[in-house]
Amino acid sequence: MDGHDNHMHTLPGEPAAMMELVRLKGVHKVYGRGVGVHALHDIHLQVSTGEIVAVCGPSGSGKTSLLNLAGMIDSATEGSIVIAKLLLSQLTEQARADLRGEMIGHVFQSFTLVPVMTALENVMLPLLLRRRLDEPSLQAAQARAADLLAQVGMATQARLYPERLDSSQCQRVAVARALMTQPRLVVADEPTSRLDSGAARLVMDLFARHQLEHGTAFLISTRDQRQLSRVTRTLQLMEGRLGTPAELLRKPLRVLS
Ligand code: ADP
Ligand code: MG
Repeated sequence: MDGHDNHMHTLPGEPAAMMELVRLKGVHKVYGRGVGVHALHDIHLQVSTGEIVAVCGPSGSGKTSLLNLAGMIDSATEGSIVIAKLLLSQLTEQARADLRGEMIGHVFQSFTLVPVMTALENVMLPLLLRRRLDEPSLQAAQARAADLLAQVGMATQARLYPERLDSSQCQRVAVARALMTQPRLVVADEPTSRLDSGAARLVMDLFARHQLEHGTAFLISTRDQRQLSRVTRTLQLMEGRLGTPAELLRKPLRVLS
């Protein structure tokens, strides 16, 4: 795959209409009561099938907060979040959990690997949580997990437990795990932060392959310029406000009170 300008073309095998997967409208996030920490201000964001959207911003700008909302890990203080055309505030807790498990793969900033499971078992976990697998499906799942690990350069570490892995290796297990169920949307919080250039390229190539072959959408936060060649849209987050880099330059930000 040459990958130089794939964002310039329609994607092969892509459904004719891009489908909206996530829409945030007028979203605010305030942590704590009273004055609290106003982490996100009036966020408008839409992510559709086949997009790789990068949210760039310095530490503390609100990247994790934003990804936790779009990834259904946390709920907004104000504003609306629509996932696959469903307004989250109208769903029950159970319906939200089902939707999250079905639609979204997560790469958390802290990886959240399960210490008593091998790398391979960690990668298989999202599928095991979703349904009981019969023996042939279990074999197929193992093969898929092994293949995903191989694609991030972890073929020989598949049987190791997380305590035997360094942070680069743990991060790559977390990346492989996020793709295990073939989710329509992957929400990845600084997914290359612990990777050297070679491993970062493997991860971004893997994302790009899923985008091209399956129309998978990615919402990625990053402080890493290396991965931007694969990205179809870049947004800048500054002090909890989101825009294109040009917009944020034109409109000087109000100082937060
Ligand atoms: P980033 O991922 O870009 O570093 P975060 O979303 O983690 O940004 O944080 C944005 C702001 O919200 C920061 O000021 C941070 O201290 C604050 N914050 C994040 N999570 C919490 C929390 N659980 N409770 C209180 N403040 C938080
Ligand atoms: Mg963060």
